Amino acid sequence: MNIETHACVISGKHQVSVKQQPLQWNGAGTLVRITRGGICGSDLHYYQHGKVGSYDVKMPMILGHEVVGYVVESDDPRLQPQQKVAINPAQPCGTCKYCQRQQENQCTAMRFFGSAMYTPHVDGGFTQYKIVTSSQCVPFPQECDDKVMVFAEPLAVCIHATHQAGELTGKRVFISGVGPIGCLIAAAAQVGGAAEVVCSDISARSLCMAKQMGATQVVNAASDDITHWMADKGYFDVAFEAAGHPASLQRCLDVVCAKGRLVQVGMGGSSDVPLMTLIAKEIALVGSFRFTHEFRTAVEWLARGIIDPLPLFSGEYHLQEIDAALQFAGDKTRAAKVQLTF
Ligand SMILES: [Zn+2]
Ligand SMILES: [Zn+2]
Repeated sequence: MNIETHACVISGKHQVSVKQQPLQWNGAGTLVRITRGGICGSDLHYYQHGKVGSYDVKMPMILGHEVVGYVVESDDPRLQPQQKVAINPAQPCGTCKYCQRQQENQCTAMRFFGSAMYTPHVDGGFTQYKIVTSSQCVPFPQECDDKVMVFAEPLAVCIHATHQAGELTGKRVFISGVGPIGCLIAAAAQVGGAAEVVCSDISARSLCMAKQMGATQVVNAASDDITHWMADKGYFDVAFEAAGHPASLQRCLDVVCAKGRLVQVGMGGSSDVPLMTLIAKEIALVGSFRFTHEFRTAVEWLARGIIDPLPLFSGEYHLQEIDAALQFAGDKTRAAKVQLTF
């Protein structure tokens, strides 16, 4: 069967367009009608800079990795037509040494939606129809709003980050940088049983969102004094750096207690880590990248209403307005999570 699909294609910096593309469906995998997608930081990077880190857009690529839809046809009997599905954008190889250790996010041959890491690039999900591996489809209940379920991928990133932090029950948690990711970490830390969740940012708007998402206290990094949390070698058991900024990392190192744990989630390129603080306070610094089984957990939490992500929702655009959507999403003074409809 031949299908025509409209897709949001990036071909370089500020070069995004809606292209009609043919899709060949031969019955292998699952054909999904995508209904909705969320614009993420990496989509914005490709649009604003034509690259993410050192991965340049070298050929036209469909953007997007946070998408949901419904099944049109599938080779998997569990996936009946019309079944709503959240799509896991990660397709690990299943055979490399990391996949064998169930550390699929470290797969050496990962195919991830909307990524220019490899050439040819891996197309993303900002398209009306998409053929995926059936195991990438996670079903969710009909009555659950697609607008909510679009948050499954970023929430999976944040649940993984809390797992990197270890047990959070009764812990004092500090989060520096509360864009959508920092806010969802705050929510996940609450679910994880944290006793206190203090969020820091320079934007009053972001701090307001963090409060709605479960922060017990918020502080403005530009104006509020935090020196009382630096006494006795620090107050917090765990800190999450989610701004990707050297000053934010410094703040985390200052307020996390000796023997505490610091999870680096924000991607900010190279930065000088103040090693002496790290050494003297014996802080465990750990990275956090994407997710593994946490995608299913995220779908379950959203379906059951354990987390309400909608305070982060800033608006929606039709795919034909992709340019305007990306421009709005890139204006951090106005937008948190922007969605596209297909
Ligand atoms: Zn994302
Ligand atoms: Zn692998």
